[in-house]
Amino acid sequence: MRQSGTNLPKVGRYNRAVVLDQIQLADGISRVEIAQYTGLTPQTVSGIVRRLIEEGIIREDGESKGAAGGKPRTTLRVNADAGCAVGLHFDPVELSCTVVDLLGRPLVVKKRPARHVTDPAEVVKDMAELVADVLAETGVDRDKVLGIGLATPGPIDLEHGVIVGAPQLTNWTRVPVQHMLSETTGLPVTLDNDATAAAIGERWSGAGRGVADFAYFFFGTGIGGGLILNHQVYRGGSRNAGEFGHSSVLPDGPECYCGNRGCLERLVNPTAIVAEVHRRLAAGSHPDSALARVFAEDPDAVDHAAIRVAAAAGDPVAAAVIDETAEHVASVAVDIANFLDVDLIVLGGHGIQHVESRYVAVVAAALKSRPLSRHIRVVEVEASPLGTDAAVVGSAALVLHATYSPQLSALVGAGVTPGSQR
Ligand SMILES: [Zn+2]
Repeated sequence: MRQSGTNLPKVGRYNRAVVLDQIQLADGISRVEIAQYTGLTPQTVSGIVRRLIEEGIIREDGESKGAAGGKPRTTLRVNADAGCAVGLHFDPVELSCTVVDLLGRPLVVKKRPARHVTDPAEVVKDMAELVADVLAETGVDRDKVLGIGLATPGPIDLEHGVIVGAPQLTNWTRVPVQHMLSETTGLPVTLDNDATAAAIGERWSGAGRGVADFAYFFFGTGIGGGLILNHQVYRGGSRNAGEFGHSSVLPDGPECYCGNRGCLERLVNPTAIVAEVHRRLAAGSHPDSALARVFAEDPDAVDHAAIRVAAAAGDPVAAAVIDETAEHVASVAVDIANFLDVDLIVLGGHGIQHVESRYVAVVAAALKSRPLSRHIRVVEVEASPLGTDAAVVGSAALVLHATYSPQLSALVGAGVTPGSQR
């Protein structure tokens, strides 16, 4: 679970990140413990800690008892108020913005409907206004803002800070959004896709805290995914790893815009779920379904949110459809467990709001009975404690992650993505 530092020369930046990461993950830690967990020499740890204290990023906070008979140890903590990061989540229907402290704790979350979505320049203007509003509301000193993390629907070209054009985003073909937002706000911008951002948020302050290997499912308009492997974000060759939504679960299923057939996302998305519930409600009588009565009055009232609320309350039609969609998710979760041997699967995003526990139950049953490695240990599944705010909190965590997290690429100097360069 712990990460090793290295005592080789020219790795100062990496070691600093390893030490900072330990302090952030622990609820109070001593220099001796950092040395033990990282394998760094006590001198190296002391030097890094001294500089971090001088910079105001960490602080000494009382003393704890050392080993029996040993000297008391000074407890180190992140100085949460020393800086902050702004997170922005651009969803085709909504803009969300937050400011988090250095521990990743949100000070405020603000949302507004996304307007002029087909006009990237207008959207960037709205984003900048929302950032200004949120900073004004929290009264945070602009000098303390480390940067903005921007989470957008994928696919994106991280190398160039460009949105390539998600299916739901007309006119967003190769828009240099990272540069545009940075110009408008005067703040550095870190870009990532929303699912990866949410996974980083989970790693930072959610279910994946301290977990070395986990996969995150993001249920929004579609299904995205993020992978944290060996404590690092795994991005893949074109930096678009984790497209769990395009895993084929029905080989003869409907065609998907991606080129594949029977994709998870094609079967588990708000439109498909609503269509299936409507089909069942229209096809037969369901005397024990409250949703059927609503449907008889006004079919339009049976939307995705209403279905999720009804399923959570045990409505038989809604619950059956949700559980069937969860079965498809479970199949992909089992594949991930088999392929990657992760310890944890996290489910989050507004698309499963109210029905988190149904999804978790179905996926947990599959993970108990189907992966090859289940006799060694059962892969866990959890609903995201960050809930619908995972992506926006995660987008702020992108900035913190770039500040703290030991990027292996820091070891080789160049080759850091623009987003993680600081
Ligand atoms: Zn697909």
